[in-house]
Amino acid sequence: TATKILVTGGAGYIGSHTCLALATKDFIPVVYDNFSSGHREFVKWGPVEEGDIRDRSRLREVLARHKPAAVLHFAGLIEVSQSFKEPEAFYDINVGGSLNLLQAMMEADIRAFVFSSTCATYGQPQYMPLDEAHPQAPINPYGRTKHIVEQALRDFALCDRMRSVMLRYFNAAGADSEGRIGEWHTPETHAIPRLIEAALGRRQGFSIFGDDYETRDGTCIRDYVHVSDLAEAHVRAVEYLLNGGETVAINLGTGTGTSVQELVTAVEAVSGRPLPVTKAERRPGDPPLLVASNATARALLGWEPEHHVDDIIRSAWTWHRRFNGHS
Ligand code: UDP
Repeated sequence: TATKILVTGGAGYIGSHTCLALATKDFIPVVYDNFSSGHREFVKWGPVEEGDIRDRSRLREVLARHKPAAVLHFAGLIEVSQSFKEPEAFYDINVGGSLNLLQAMMEADIRAFVFSSTCATYGQPQYMPLDEAHPQAPINPYGRTKHIVEQALRDFALCDRMRSVMLRYFNAAGADSEGRIGEWHTPETHAIPRLIEAALGRRQGFSIFGDDYETRDGTCIRDYVHVSDLAEAHVRAVEYLLNGGETVAINLGTGTGTSVQELVTAVEAVSGRPLPVTKAERRPGDPPLLVASNATARALLGWEPEHHVDDIIRSAWTWHRRFNGHS
């Protein structure tokens, strides 16, 4: 029989793409989601159990029923600006929820964990590209809540309670190549979907947050990684743990940076429409340049990003054009 994997936040953006990738590899993804921001339409590749990661008895019940071999933990709050306005919620859900989930897993003797972490745990970069050995000094509550859970995972590894892969994402973007699922956040804060919505006339233009950075064209540079490549890395992380792999942190990025201005040009090319672009103030806490070293992902997971920024934009464009709104 196929191995079950519990996927918290499996109805969300990266979680749903990972469920698809798991099902393709003969795993059964069991989605655990409270649908606070996930979408029921995105659960297509296995059973769903509605629940909150802070609810220990519900978790006990679900773990006992499905007996997953590992847990992939995507559920959590992700938006930096919200983390300044509602730090309590970030601590409650990202820290409290994650620790509660880990306790429930350890009670059930499930000891393989893949954690959605972030390059935001590094804080202001001291060198580039960022490797996993770069000091972690988060500059916002979001990054700090993820860093705290990483530290707990180190202790659980030290004491032989849990083996974890902490995946530090750079900028997730794009959509399933067949358009079955895609990026759907409310409100949308991310650059690529905002640009596409603007090109589709669903949003009034696009603002570039700062054009006087010390970069090649003055706008911020990020490492955009295709969500389907991220999904593949999660499947490999599960296989790594099920094969006895030790606790490790792994960056997920392409190693190539794209500026906001380059995104604008690329979206104009894909859509065939000129975009009304305005210049706005710098967004607080935005480092000028964030690019990953992905040597660890290559070495430990044999992972290689297959999609580049043009694929990312093309797949996102296809998804958004087809997707007819929030209903
Ligand atoms: N950005 C922008 N205008 C927007 C949204 C984002 O210029 O409407 C910039 C943002 O300042 C950053 C880059 O685009 O330099 C990527 O931002 P996003 O929110 O997509 O991801 P982040 O890097 O914050 O995780």
